[in-house]
Amino acid sequence: MTSSPHCEIDTISTDILILGSGGAGLFAGLHAKQANPDLEVTVAAKGLIGKSGCTRMVQGGFNVAVNPGDSVERHFMDTIIGGKWLPRQDLAWRLCESAVERIQELENELGCFFDRNSDGTLHQKAFAGQSFDRTAHKGDLTGIEIINRLMEKVWTLDVVKLEEHRAIDLIPAKDQSGIAGVLMIDIRSGGYRLVRARTVLLATGAGPSMYRYHTPSGDKSCDGLAMALRFGLSLRDMEMVQFHPTGILAGPDTRMTGTILEEGLRGAGGYLLNGAGERFMTQYDPAAERATRDIVSRSMYREIRDGRATQQGGLFIEMVHLGGDRVRQMFPGMVKRCEDCGFDLATGRVEVVPTAHYMMGGVQMEIDCTTTTPGLFVAGEDAGGVHGANRLGGNGVANSTVFGAIAGDEMATAIGRGVPLRDPDLESVEQAIACAEKPFGQTKANLSELRERLWSMMWDKVGILRTADGIREGVRVLDDCRETLTGIGVENDDRAFNLTWHDWLNLDNQITVSQAIAGASLARDDSRGAHFREDFPTTGNLEQSTYTCTRYENGQLIQEMTPVAFTMVKPGESLIDGDAGAPRTAQNGDPS
Ligand SMILES: Cc1cc2nc3c(=O)[nH]c(=O)nc-3n(C[C@H](O)[C@H](O)[C@H](O)COP(=O)(O)OP(=O)(O)OC[C@H]3O[C@@H](n4cnc5c(N)ncnc54)[C@H](O)[C@@H]3O)c2cc1C
Repeated sequence: MTSSPHCEIDTISTDILILGSGGAGLFAGLHAKQANPDLEVTVAAKGLIGKSGCTRMVQGGFNVAVNPGDSVERHFMDTIIGGKWLPRQDLAWRLCESAVERIQELENELGCFFDRNSDGTLHQKAFAGQSFDRTAHKGDLTGIEIINRLMEKVWTLDVVKLEEHRAIDLIPAKDQSGIAGVLMIDIRSGGYRLVRARTVLLATGAGPSMYRYHTPSGDKSCDGLAMALRFGLSLRDMEMVQFHPTGILAGPDTRMTGTILEEGLRGAGGYLLNGAGERFMTQYDPAAERATRDIVSRSMYREIRDGRATQQGGLFIEMVHLGGDRVRQMFPGMVKRCEDCGFDLATGRVEVVPTAHYMMGGVQMEIDCTTTTPGLFVAGEDAGGVHGANRLGGNGVANSTVFGAIAGDEMATAIGRGVPLRDPDLESVEQAIACAEKPFGQTKANLSELRERLWSMMWDKVGILRTADGIREGVRVLDDCRETLTGIGVENDDRAFNLTWHDWLNLDNQITVSQAIAGASLARDDSRGAHFREDFPTTGNLEQSTYTCTRYENGQLIQEMTPVAFTMVKPGESLIDGDAGAPRTAQNGDPS
């Protein structure tokens, strides 16, 4: 137990501390324990372990080049071209190469049952932006299969679990030699817990939940990215926020609004209609509804902005022309989800709206998941650089499981080399507690209004279509939101399960990361992938591509542009013969 002027702090120590229990966190735990069963591994999650985060929500599937007609080179080229030449190429290569190993581990060692062809080979779906059908899946609920098997396996190991533990700040060593641990709030008791660790993995799953419509799980508020920024780390590609075209619009009072309907619906031939019931995608792109998700999202946004929306402000997806029975048979999960929201997907129309889905940007990492801070590792959606300007559907869960496993192996190796348990800088602990305690004792207010303001501003000004003037206005609103939040308190002083307190902390981190997104969006004055500037609608010279880096310097967020190193292949070149490097026009949806 350590004492602070504010409270008593429970202190524990471990060899490896993993923040997050999604695909990245659980794979890291599994691999670290397999590498050295004697290591003490602690997994801490804001939600319930194995039940929180987005890996569990994965619908579409996992990209992997295992078919004899496919190759790692082809998967890599699709990832680079899809990412508009911004991905860090060694990371993208590692993703594609190690995805093969990971799917074999998932099937043969963890016992995942993925769908199979009648000849017993793995069934792989075709998704947009890919030159080969390579998305392995379990029906339309792939994430549940992966996380359940993974969780069962991790449970059999001697892993310390800290459920409903919210990490609030990374704590440096007193001598500044690296990471010393993480300060957390035990949400159940409201008490503070300092977990000292030789190595720490940041795997909190990012998640663009600062937009009016968003898909990530409710426990995600970009905490990892905000902690990394406060700690002085640099984030790359923060302007790259991916929007998924078909979020359900089920009204303001349900969390179902914003959750996705898989893009296989568009791939199978579903139509998007405007408020007047007219099909509009044919006017925007020759591939119509089957265009990639950035193009469809932008077209939908324009249709809505130009006043051709439904009464609720959305659009419709319609499948009835494919035959109701066929739709029910092909998409049972989606039909049920729509039914739960009062829509009939098979024979009627469902209201939809583009929805913020994934952050390509994140903490800069090396190929072994290390960061610039000794002892601190990063993996999964918290890490940046793998996907560049766009993530291909199916590369998200491959990313979290591949790099999670690498992080687990590497943390075990690092400890084998003698990484010490560093003494924590207690001043940083004090500071983190003082920040977390801020809302207590201040004027009590309802946070919903502020959240609504943040959601609307990010949606309108730093969303699917951006301009310099709009972003600048957004930055002013963000400064104002920060000031408002700093001055308001929470209703109840009781710390145990005080969800309003956690809403306050969520908003604090969401504002920080929104500032990073806005700053990077202003710095990038071209359009590519998920980032579209109406005042700079062209992409510019690919060979001179640069990426954004965002970090705090003297209390200010600053942005720098860094040239992309084309370490394996340059724009215009391909690792494969012929035109195979160019993705075919999407004939199928690119699920999430
Ligand atoms: C609806 C949906 C469908 C998707 N479908 C696909 C798909 O078909 N294919 C694909 O490739 N990708 C898909 N994705 C993306 C994919 O799910 C994610 O990219 C990936 O799973 C992220 O894994 P992760 O381990 O980084 O984070 P997550 O799985 O999101 O886990 C994050 C963990 O961090 C914890 N956490 C958060 N904050 C804190 C904190 N402060 N302290 C402690 N713990 C914290 C959470 O509780 C959780 O345990 C989908 C995403 C969504 C939302």
